[in-house]
Amino acid sequence: MSDSQTLLSIANLRKQFRITADSWCGGGGQVVSAINDVSLEIRKGESFCLVGESGCGKSTLARTVMGLETPTSGTIAYGGTRIDDMNDGARLPYRRRMQMIFQNPYASLNPRMTISQTLEEPLRFHQPGLSDSQVRDKVVTVMESVGNNTSWLSRFPHEFSGGQRQRISIARALMVDPEFVVADEPISALDVSIQAQVLNVMMDARNERDLTYLFITHDLSVVEHFGTRVAVMYLGVVCELADTRTLFAGPRHPYTQLLLSAIPKMDGSEMTHDRMQGEVPSAMQLPSGCVFHGRCPHAKAVCKTDIPALRDVAGRQVACHFAEETG
Ligand code: SF4
Repeated sequence: MSDSQTLLSIANLRKQFRITADSWCGGGGQVVSAINDVSLEIRKGESFCLVGESGCGKSTLARTVMGLETPTSGTIAYGGTRIDDMNDGARLPYRRRMQMIFQNPYASLNPRMTISQTLEEPLRFHQPGLSDSQVRDKVVTVMESVGNNTSWLSRFPHEFSGGQRQRISIARALMVDPEFVVADEPISALDVSIQAQVLNVMMDARNERDLTYLFITHDLSVVEHFGTRVAVMYLGVVCELADTRTLFAGPRHPYTQLLLSAIPKMDGSEMTHDRMQGEVPSAMQLPSGCVFHGRCPHAKAVCKTDIPALRDVAGRQVACHFAEETG
């Protein structure tokens, strides 16, 4: 149930894509189920992480929250107001309050615009009454607030590294003073050596601006560093939802347990990690019952027939028939 601290509320969300006859795999008439009955709430000030393997539906969920995709069913509310069914005019104020940072900083900046023009654009759109000098002042203030050199402003995106471009993308998102930022794998395209630097910029912005994040990642070590709460997704379903510390101290869902054991760790002088068995099934043919039953070491007969509900177990929510026994 929503309370006054809830900023974003997602209820029974589904997103399906119909594959047309002329699409890439010739699967005309087939349906891809990207999000399957997801319900979750994000509270003000949280860094809520959504984690899972590639293709689990987490980026589709981010795009649906931002209005870039239309839900097949279910609802999305922001600050208590339903936004998924709004027309463009009604949605406009929410486009300012909700900003997105994309995975690929090489594709998300317009190569023909200077950094200054890139940063001015959203501000001029959302606050057309500002004078040129007010806009320029704001650009400088925001650039400095994220540690970017203002000498970058007259230059073009191709003159910057991936990490610098992502820091420019963060500045662009902050130009309109958003409350909520959806970050879709914002560091996964970057060199490991600069991932921490970009994460730190995002954490500083959170602390200085009271931001709320929905942070999409496949990397659990990033979650441990960045997230306050985390939802683990598998085939469009939330398997486990917990405070980050609770999740890392003792995961309950067998998929979360396997994900955590797959994180590389130093064992003596060697780097070791456990491998997850099997392949992720196709989202075009979802398994019956629990979507994880084909890879789960604890699966029993009921797992093939009955869908486990996400329910409270041991201080978190788990979607597993045997969550009491998996601790
Ligand atoms: Fe494994 Fe069954 Fe739990 Fe699914 S419901 S995670 S298959 S034990």
